[in-house]
Amino acid sequence: MSKQTLGFQAETKQLLQLMIHSLYSNKEIFLRELVSNASDACDKLKFESLNNDALYEGDGSLHIDVSFDKDARTVTIADNGIGMTRDEVIANIGTIARSGTKEFFGKLSGDAQKDANLIGQFGVGFYSAFIVADRVTLTTRRAGETSATRWESEGAGEFSIEDVEKTGRGTEIVLHLKEGEDEFLDDWRLKSIIKKYSDHITLPIRMKKGNSYGENGEVIVSDELETVNKANALWTRSKNDISEDEYKQFYKHVSHDWEEPLAWSHARVEGRQEYTELLYIPKRAPFDLYERERRHGVKLFVKRVFILEDAEKLLPQYLRFIRGVIDSNDLPLNVSREILQHSKDIEQIKAGCVKKVLGLLEDIAENRQDDYASFWKEFGKVVKEGVGEDHANKERIAGLCRFATTATDSEAQTVSLKDYLGRMKEGQDKIYYVTADSFGAAKNSPHLEIFRKKGIEVLLLSDRVDEWFVSSLSEFEGKELASVAKGGLDLGALEDEAEKKEQEAKADAFKELVEKVQATLGERVKEVRITHRLTDSPACLVADEHAMSGNMERLLKSIGQ
Ligand code: ADP
Ligand code: MG
Repeated sequence: MSKQTLGFQAETKQLLQLMIHSLYSNKEIFLRELVSNASDACDKLKFESLNNDALYEGDGSLHIDVSFDKDARTVTIADNGIGMTRDEVIANIGTIARSGTKEFFGKLSGDAQKDANLIGQFGVGFYSAFIVADRVTLTTRRAGETSATRWESEGAGEFSIEDVEKTGRGTEIVLHLKEGEDEFLDDWRLKSIIKKYSDHITLPIRMKKGNSYGENGEVIVSDELETVNKANALWTRSKNDISEDEYKQFYKHVSHDWEEPLAWSHARVEGRQEYTELLYIPKRAPFDLYERERRHGVKLFVKRVFILEDAEKLLPQYLRFIRGVIDSNDLPLNVSREILQHSKDIEQIKAGCVKKVLGLLEDIAENRQDDYASFWKEFGKVVKEGVGEDHANKERIAGLCRFATTATDSEAQTVSLKDYLGRMKEGQDKIYYVTADSFGAAKNSPHLEIFRKKGIEVLLLSDRVDEWFVSSLSEFEGKELASVAKGGLDLGALEDEAEKKEQEAKADAFKELVEKVQATLGERVKEVRITHRLTDSPACLVADEHAMSGNMERLLKSIGQ
């Protein structure tokens, strides 16, 4: 096909401008992003060749080469990984606006530092090239294909694409540096950036040895290549040999996040299944947390060969925000997605990793309370799903949950069920909650009146997931969870004799009125009762003990049930 010029999606240009502006102070990270992509491309090739050795085309030694040309003012990053077809280039490189773009723009603050983090979350990795370049040329040939593709853009409104020749497979990216970016035309500078950000990349990142000086001070130019990075799999190294910074840089690579992680767990597990896990909790929820098709997850390796990236099979849904790697020593190298789905071995690894993550969260909850509060804000709703999803760990997950309650009347979810138990009134044997579709509605529910009067704490539940949460968790540490809006309210030992007498007397006195109301409302209600749960409001609706709650009914209606 001949040369074609295509336009970027409308938002792309805006996103690019914004990115260049907010990331400029940290512009060297363009190299980290391009090296990270090259490394991913090599991982993919390794995996695809497991079933098709021909893809190696006789060249199985994978590497990433970085070079520069002072006269042409270019920096080049080349890999011999999987490469891309023309269609893949258009799909992967021609598009950065993904679902959620609108929302993304809405979140921007104008503060470069904050926006930089948001942009990182959004994943504009490749486009970081335009921070330092005013023209980028990408030439790529997919392994096993004969024709290659060249993509070129000045990062404005459009890009061109044409068929070209390329001998070696893989992708080569040439950055034509902007005026004033000559600092990157420097051997030492590029090498130190690679060491700083990409030391953990498992493939060799190679550069020319550079100049040295002979005995008489003459310059010796060497074209020989040397490996700049450590080039071993970080997770295979012993914990003591890995610095905090190395863990953090590795996180940025595996997660495609630009922020530092909140915490991580690194362990070698021995026993029936031998594997290494290095799992990270991000600081911030990604944009696609609630999307069916998510782009990133935990990566599975078998003996250091990348197999797949798929949170769904490696961790349960409610931990879908976890990033990192699992490297198994026992799984066969030719495992497929289908095999994984029914693998007992995977189930075991999964169960082990879930325990590790829960343990890590418990540790943060106990020892880093501020961090836990911010974790809960980002991921709490997702963690709550776990109570319904993961029966084996239900109680532990419930213990990690935090709620808004009448004790603070604040929307911030800060109270644990343990806190609640510790504050129960004498004679109280239930954990009370109210569900509603907003915090305001929960807080102002007339059902709470009697509880407020007696000083009994009630959980104020208004997240969408809460209905599922309470229907999955019938008790915690032996204490039943009870809705304040359901059935006849029996406060048991919390009521004194005098109150009970008074209630009975009332029931007699208002018998006629009740009958009248019942007759008037007719079919629309099941029963009309005198209540003592209200102190200010004249009447309220309650659901039958075993019936669906009013809020659940509204929820189901809203999704068309
Ligand atoms: P991400 O890495 O988070 O997916 P990027 O913007 O960094 O986002 O890259 C976009 C996509 O372009 C990648 O997912 C990949 O499909 C493709 N890509 C980028 N660089 C390469 C490369 N060197 N080789 C093959 N594919 C690449
Ligand atoms: Mg990337």
